[in-house]
Amino acid sequence: MKYIFVTGGVVSSLGKGLTAAALGTLLENRGLKVALQKFDPYLNLDPGTMSPYQHGEVYVLDDGAETDLDLGHYERFTSTKLTRKNNTTSGQVYQQVLDNERAGKYLGKTVQVIPHVTDEIQRRIQVLADDAKVDVIITEVGGTTGDIEGLPFLEAIREFGQEVGPHNVCFIHVTYVPFIKAAGELKTKPTQQSVAKLREIGISPNILVCRCEKSLDKELRQKMAMFCSVPFEAVVEHKDVDHSIYEVPLMLQRERLDDLVCRVLNLTVPQANMTHWQEIIRKLIAPQHRVRIAVVGKYIELQDAYKSVYEAVIHGGVANDCGVEIEKLDAEDIEKFGPEKILKGVGGILVPGGFGERGIEGKIIAAKYAREHKIPYLGLCLGMQIATIEFGRNVLGLKDAHSTEFDPSTPHPVIALLDEQRKVTKKGGTMRLGSQPCQLTMGSKAQQLYGAFVVNERHRHRYEFNNAYRDRYAASGFVFAGTSTDGKLVEMIELADHPFYLASQSHPEFLSKPNAPHPLFRGFIAAAHQRMHNKSL
Ligand code: GLN
Repeated sequence: MKYIFVTGGVVSSLGKGLTAAALGTLLENRGLKVALQKFDPYLNLDPGTMSPYQHGEVYVLDDGAETDLDLGHYERFTSTKLTRKNNTTSGQVYQQVLDNERAGKYLGKTVQVIPHVTDEIQRRIQVLADDAKVDVIITEVGGTTGDIEGLPFLEAIREFGQEVGPHNVCFIHVTYVPFIKAAGELKTKPTQQSVAKLREIGISPNILVCRCEKSLDKELRQKMAMFCSVPFEAVVEHKDVDHSIYEVPLMLQRERLDDLVCRVLNLTVPQANMTHWQEIIRKLIAPQHRVRIAVVGKYIELQDAYKSVYEAVIHGGVANDCGVEIEKLDAEDIEKFGPEKILKGVGGILVPGGFGERGIEGKIIAAKYAREHKIPYLGLCLGMQIATIEFGRNVLGLKDAHSTEFDPSTPHPVIALLDEQRKVTKKGGTMRLGSQPCQLTMGSKAQQLYGAFVVNERHRHRYEFNNAYRDRYAASGFVFAGTSTDGKLVEMIELADHPFYLASQSHPEFLSKPNAPHPLFRGFIAAAHQRMHNKSL
């Protein structure tokens, strides 16, 4: 078993996760089995309770774990299947250590960061190694070198590296080489200092991955190699990509990152064949068709809040050789300025998941506009609840129909809590979470798109369609396209009299990949193109 550790220096948001994921793509394509893991040094047990302003998207796994969005990159870039074992936070580590202490497992010793916390971190690498049955484990350490809270993780991977020996471990440090406009130069000092910090802890990186806006010349590479004690060829340039994050594996392959890693780890494997990946990039850079999709949300100013949604929409484009221009629209603007002004001319309207009341009325207006103007609509989780509320109010005449999340005393609670959720008082990890089967209705659009009768999709919500209203909805052309296998929970809805109006209580965006676009997104983009250009793909 070989171990790769990816750390970050200088500043956060350098795309360590993307680097780790892209390296995973390359190693998989060299025939290696790869697992990816993320360490997050914050004290929350998981990011499930964090605001999108703090954390970006919460990425949900099959087993219901609420995890960091980098795990989304891991799943999209590789074939690895992740579980809660693939994301460890300081909170989880400390909780385990304290549980052990209460159970008397430390036999009277003083419980300390070293060795008890660091041992628990190493145990978590080992658990994955034992379970995953892979050739290589890539572990990304969140945060930036020099953060106090990251220290136990760095100490743990140092010790781990010591134990497994030099040719079984590879340390990659992702760093930043800023371009200083006034001087017209790239600067290496922050990288030198960040590596010095890492070496102080006892970790000497084998490879530097340098994020930069401009290319590194030979001299700069030599300078960094010398000051950071890495071979010249181990200074890898990771320039900002022009079009798409999916270019990153190809770029890093050109820089021979995978060759370097294989050399450090004594792995003799063939070169990666990336032809299929190049075809994806071709479709992203020079697509045959184009379409404009409106995403109506409330965190649209944040890049990461709807990460998987944006990615899945792009994959739906790849499946149709169709470039997607995503218009990120604030639901409150639709309330303020009206749908005509904001939504006119788009090919499709997507309402993603969400919590809390802000922007809800704007989303309902958008769903109404899509229904009435026969614009393709895709609703995800909250987006299905919005479609339900809109239909109740405006087609069934259920005055003030609402979800009890937003109006607990609505006369028509068309979306409401199940009894089991009413009893829940704790916030963390208590939603309906993870992969659950959905039985599709024969002949429905969803069933045709999936080409299956039972599918599994990931969930993250508390509220459900209220079955007391099912008959009334069904009688007016609201199609129940999918339910839980016992028929009790509504999972997918469609409108009979509409070219494409489909919504799911689950989050299909979490299962889409560039090389395996999700069928619902594929169908949505095709319908949106048809609507915009009046011709099918
Ligand atoms: N707030 C809604 C619920 O909890 C929808 C959640 C979501 O969109 N993820 O049911």
